[in-house]
Amino acid sequence: MDARLEAIRDTVLARNPGEREFHQAVIEVFESLGPVHDRHPEFLEGAVLERLCEPERQIIFRVPWTDDAGSFQINRGFRVEFNSALGPYKGGLRFHPSVNLGIIKFLGFEQIFKNALTGMPIGGGKGGSDFDPRGRSDAEIMRFCQSFMTELYRHIGEYTDVPAGDIGVGGREIGYLFGQYKRITNRYESGVLTGKGISWGGSLVRPEATGYGTVIFAEEMLKTRGQSFDGQRVVVSGSGNVAINAIAKAQALGATVVACSDSSGYIVDEAGIDVALLRQIKEVERGRLKDYEARRSAVSYVEGGSVWDVDATVALPCATQNELGGDAAARLVRNGLLAVGEGANMPSTRDAVAVFQEAGILFGPGKAANAGGVTTSALEMQQNASRDSWSFAHTEERLTEIMVGIHARCAATADEYGDPGNYVLGANIGGFVKVADAMLAQGLI
Ligand code: NDP
Repeated sequence: MDARLEAIRDTVLARNPGEREFHQAVIEVFESLGPVHDRHPEFLEGAVLERLCEPERQIIFRVPWTDDAGSFQINRGFRVEFNSALGPYKGGLRFHPSVNLGIIKFLGFEQIFKNALTGMPIGGGKGGSDFDPRGRSDAEIMRFCQSFMTELYRHIGEYTDVPAGDIGVGGREIGYLFGQYKRITNRYESGVLTGKGISWGGSLVRPEATGYGTVIFAEEMLKTRGQSFDGQRVVVSGSGNVAINAIAKAQALGATVVACSDSSGYIVDEAGIDVALLRQIKEVERGRLKDYEARRSAVSYVEGGSVWDVDATVALPCATQNELGGDAAARLVRNGLLAVGEGANMPSTRDAVAVFQEAGILFGPGKAANAGGVTTSALEMQQNASRDSWSFAHTEERLTEIMVGIHARCAATADEYGDPGNYVLGANIGGFVKVADAMLAQGLI
């Protein structure tokens, strides 16, 4: 790493002790940015990196609620408003027991670059809670969301901070959160949250957008080698919002998706995952992946194992951070892997990324490859601002254009900085320069 950046990095790590995932995200970005600072000494003089690594605001709050048995429950809520150089803070809410400040900060930090790459007027932020929605009734989810919003509402707004979904937060949760925001503020402020229901201000394609966008990005990478999804053997991790829609899109482009997972295990379906059945189990019944095995022939379910034990030519990690390690990466590479498109945020460990890059695998990092979700959230904000609603075809066309554009920008930036095909470098530099220019223009704030 560039020596000038090393000193700044060390200070950032020391000031944020114990925030493992945040450290990982910062180190990865800093490793790309040496050449930018050779060309732009004004970024160092303007302390852009020091400012960028310090969130503009971090909010941590108590979320008290009552479960169905009448017992009191206390969770912790977070919203990290990281950077507003390009627009209102924008980024999802995650409800998962593993959530802590370091995880929210890593996600918010990544979001700054991702949002800049989309070309839309949105800054970076992220939030969530250590609340575990699994096994909770609808009424419990509603009471939790209402309590969470009872504090969050004072920090957000269509021109301030616009949350959306992430792990554990889908259409149901956004509905309860929006209802409580409206009730407290007495304002029908559609643009305050994205991922809303279609009949009350949501955008068509938003549910599909992250998974579709990841596949569109990966298809663009494959094209640079004269390939496409057609005929590929694909493995996807996760079976949530991003994973299901990535599976659907990959299969629509002619691939066979042979495996996917949840946190309990994975299924292998050599004939290709039946997306309708998967949606029924995961989205309608809110069941477990294990249920898929009994309802379709020639499927095997592996309890507890890693889905990365299944060979693939294209891997789409769509579950969570650090789920694909160096050993799994090496095994996939040995067995014919061509490309990786990260649907999740930072799902590949630093070791895994090094393995992919050394082997010349096409590797699309999450901050570029999964930008379709936030892109369509920004399209939802556009529709809300103009009191309009677009057709599925038009919205998908805009999403596709933007994802193709993000791919082109990452590729062109990697070329410009002398490392063709390095999408990590392209995404980090492409996002950073845009934010850094805006920060300098806006003065020392
Ligand atoms: P969902 O909650 O819909 O699904 C998450 C999936 O990942 C589930 O199958 C879940 O399994 C699995 N999973 C979650 N945590 C773990 C874990 N610790 N170990 C193993 N499996 C796990 O979330 P999304 O699909 O929305 O999000 C998935 C990823 O995509 C996240 O990294 C998120 O940040 C990222 N992302 C999401 C966007 C969106 O628009 N939703 C936008 C951009 C990125 P189980 O059900 O067993 O918990």
